[in-house]
Amino acid sequence: MHDFQFKDAELFAEKIPVRKIIEEVGTPFYLYSANTISNHFKAFDSAFEKVPHTVCFAAKSCSNIAILRLLAGLGAGMDIVSGGELHRALLAGVDPGKIVYAGVGKTKEEIKYALETGIMMFNVESTQELFAIDEAAEDLGKKARVSLRVNPDVDPKTHPYISTGLKQNKFGINIDDAFEEYKLAKGLENIEVVGIQKHIGSQITQISPFVDALEKVVNLANRLRDEAGINIQYLDIGGGLGITYKDESPPHPRELAAAIVPMLEKTGYTIVFEPGRLIMGNAGVLVAKVLYTKVNEGKNFVIVDAGMNDLVRPSLYGSYQEIIPVVKKNGKPKIVADIVGPICESGDFLAKDRTLPTFEQGDFLAVMSAGAYGFSMSSNYNSRPRVAEVLVKGDEFHVIRRRESYEDLVRGEEIPAFLK
Ligand SMILES: *Cc1c(COP(=O)(O)O)cnc(C)c1O
Repeated sequence: MHDFQFKDAELFAEKIPVRKIIEEVGTPFYLYSANTISNHFKAFDSAFEKVPHTVCFAAKSCSNIAILRLLAGLGAGMDIVSGGELHRALLAGVDPGKIVYAGVGKTKEEIKYALETGIMMFNVESTQELFAIDEAAEDLGKKARVSLRVNPDVDPKTHPYISTGLKQNKFGINIDDAFEEYKLAKGLENIEVVGIQKHIGSQITQISPFVDALEKVVNLANRLRDEAGINIQYLDIGGGLGITYKDESPPHPRELAAAIVPMLEKTGYTIVFEPGRLIMGNAGVLVAKVLYTKVNEGKNFVIVDAGMNDLVRPSLYGSYQEIIPVVKKNGKPKIVADIVGPICESGDFLAKDRTLPTFEQGDFLAVMSAGAYGFSMSSNYNSRPRVAEVLVKGDEFHVIRRRESYEDLVRGEEIPAFLK
């Protein structure tokens, strides 16, 4: 459920007509609902109340510091994948003791930054990384808390670009090698082994991949305890629970909990979760304006002021995003059209062959389910300033990131003396 609903013909975000925000902010912009974000977080958090746990929001899904602040205020930790995300989390006031750090390519500088910050743990993805963390910790005279990210070789049955837990993926340490790897980690002077982590992919709409992966990871934890005397504290089971974009019916967090809490309870570990999409996906929309319409070779095109640089998911994954008018007009015939952006690429589309009410020049539309992997994946391609982000709470709204200017676009660029 979300808080973008029609009242009569008008789309509202919580208690504010979207049209009103358009008048003040201009288009395009991302629009998030604080109430939806809170509800999603609480639904997830409370589903697992029977086990000691921390919900670490996957910051990469939507990393605006206002969003991170909102979630931190609800008790969330963060799952980060870069030094930049750590910087954001700290600015937002996230408790460092609730930050987990994943990613296959952490640099020495990033590792030191995280050690100085005192994060909960690194989720380590390779042997060389483990050595790098050990060295960095030695340099700083600290002990690094780590868990190893294991790759359980389970098919999450999702898009190949967002599958991460298969043997052939770049992520984690093969589960068959993990036991030896843990023994190695235990022997390192500046490393404290505190957990096991897995994350098998994103937009997962079935329960069985979670159960299968968890079984393997719990078995490994038991073996570590029984055969190597390695007692872990944290079992980090990643994120990945899917949402409804079109007609998917992913399990509710309660259903996932019903399947896995019995397995988790028995372990006695503190469970770490890393949901991103589930919290943010349906809590945000992208609002755009129709610039032009045209017909080429009998095909209808609706050209809008937001493109693949603003929302790349349809181009990158061929993903479906629902498109609705901001103001419904009566009696408009439906047409089949492509909704396209201004970018000079044929791959620049938000929807293809979509049956929609006729849009006219000057109309506004909302691209639904754009809160996760929307703004955070946006770019300046075609030298387009990145769009504004707006957060609504009840009958208030605030621009939480102003629209970039042309000045912002060239910030940091310089013409060298030899060209002057
Ligand atoms: C991306 C990512 C997540 C979040 O995935 P969602 O599908 O958005 O829940 C969690 N953990 C790790 C390690 C990730 O890379």
